Amino acid sequence: MTDKPILLWLRRDLRLADHPALHAAAASGRPVIPVVIRDAALDRLGAAARWRMGQALAHFDARLQGLGSRLVLRSGPALEVLRGLVAETGAATILWSRAYDGASVELGRRVKDWAKAHDITAKSYNGSLLFEPWEVTTATGGPYRVFTPFWRAVKDRPVPDPVQAPSQLRPPTHWPDSEILGSWRLSEGVGRGAEVLARHALVGEERARSRFAAFLAGPVARYATDRDMLALPGCSGMSEPLTYGEVSPRLLWHLAQGKPGAEAFLRQLVWRDFAWQLFFHRPDMAEENWREGWDGFPWRGDNAQALAWKQGRSGVPLVDAAMRELYVTGRMHNRARMVSASYLTKHLLTDWRVGLRWFADCLTDWDEAANAMGWQWVAGTGPDAAPFFRVFNPETQAVRFDPEGRYRRRWIAEGEAAPTQTALSYFDAVPRSWALDPKAPRPEPALPLAEGRQRALAAYAAHRT
Ligand SMILES: Cc1cc2nc3c(=O)[nH]c(=O)nc-3n(C[C@H](O)[C@H](O)[C@H](O)COP(=O)(O)OP(=O)(O)OC[C@H]3O[C@@H](n4cnc5c(N)ncnc54)[C@H](O)[C@@H]3O)c2cc1C
Repeated sequence: MTDKPILLWLRRDLRLADHPALHAAAASGRPVIPVVIRDAALDRLGAAARWRMGQALAHFDARLQGLGSRLVLRSGPALEVLRGLVAETGAATILWSRAYDGASVELGRRVKDWAKAHDITAKSYNGSLLFEPWEVTTATGGPYRVFTPFWRAVKDRPVPDPVQAPSQLRPPTHWPDSEILGSWRLSEGVGRGAEVLARHALVGEERARSRFAAFLAGPVARYATDRDMLALPGCSGMSEPLTYGEVSPRLLWHLAQGKPGAEAFLRQLVWRDFAWQLFFHRPDMAEENWREGWDGFPWRGDNAQALAWKQGRSGVPLVDAAMRELYVTGRMHNRARMVSASYLTKHLLTDWRVGLRWFADCLTDWDEAANAMGWQWVAGTGPDAAPFFRVFNPETQAVRFDPEGRYRRRWIAEGEAAPTQTALSYFDAVPRSWALDPKAPRPEPALPLAEGRQRALAAYAAHRT
């Protein structure tokens, strides 16, 4: 039995509880060197997600220090960095949680090939999904393309029990050098918005766990109806910690079992797995129309109205409230995501990829698969999508899901005699170059809603003929 160190390569799995790779490393009794690599994947994150990753790393480093360990930070192509660390530390094993986007799948393969050729043990684990993307297959052995049968196929399947958090991690005799987190400048892209974002972020495993406990103690029972109401705290808020792996979906699954109303919540949690199994099988899902029939559709690229949409100045109150919630909190209510995405792709006839990229830049809960699936669902281009002719009407959506206007007042200051603090905080977060003023009159919509709807339907009809 070797006593050589283990490299624990961490990415979006910054937690202690239910972390199979960390659990295996700790259980070995060997020295463990937790490593985070600033590689192309980390550099590719949007501004808000990079900032939030910085918060997650700082927090998790402190957690590890409580166990007598720490994070080692290195920059460079991941395989090169891992090879260098093996040479420096004499590590004989590399463990990590699998990631399922195309580039990460390929990287995992290369790390395993290199390790095998150099007599190093390399092992990856499922640390981020309920089921592996290849585990749930249709009767003919292929992946599911439609959610409801996927849900039926998994809802009664056993989900492995969560594994315990380690109580300590054995440090190596000599720690390899680490870069300093501040030198990664992960906050740079968000500028002055960082301070505002920080008020809304739910950083770290402990806060995520207590937020989920509060959700299970009350809101989960009414989740099926409240989850659509824009002004209510009816949802779990777990997307952000799930994104950085501060909680695991398997733990949430087990904690929610047996709670009245939990099935509706678990169904949504399974949407996340569904998104990743789609993305695993179609790694170009964030770039290409899932349905080729949409190639050549006359979407507009970036345009002045899309810019107004991004800036929360479309003139459509529900859409503007949604876009401001996004900028201030790094998150957006699910219904607001659907309505604002529908307005961009249908009323403004703008390419869903314009919106996808803006969300990717602004979301702290940015999840490549869920974002791509959400945009393609709304645009009508996805495998299991809302039909293009179903155009969300932001006014009727507001009447149904924000009947008292509380959500809109929470986020829109213009035209209000006494704007809310949250609405005003938008003006503290946005770049000064946008020259926004809470006392300015409300912007006018680019075109009447009915006209935008007709234009979209006409473009769709013309494309199909
Ligand atoms: C255009 C668009 C873009 C989106 N982009 C993202 C994204 O980048 N990251 C992200 O996590 N979600 C995304 N979603 C899905 C959804 O809006 C969020 O997961 C949800 O709002 C998060 O809030 P919550 O954690 O309180 O969710 P809850 O309602 O409490 O749901 C629990 C969990 O289930 C999962 N979930 C719920 N709905 C969905 C869904 N439609 N698709 C996939 N997983 C889901 C999430 O992990 C969520 O945390 C997007 C949806 C749309 C329409």
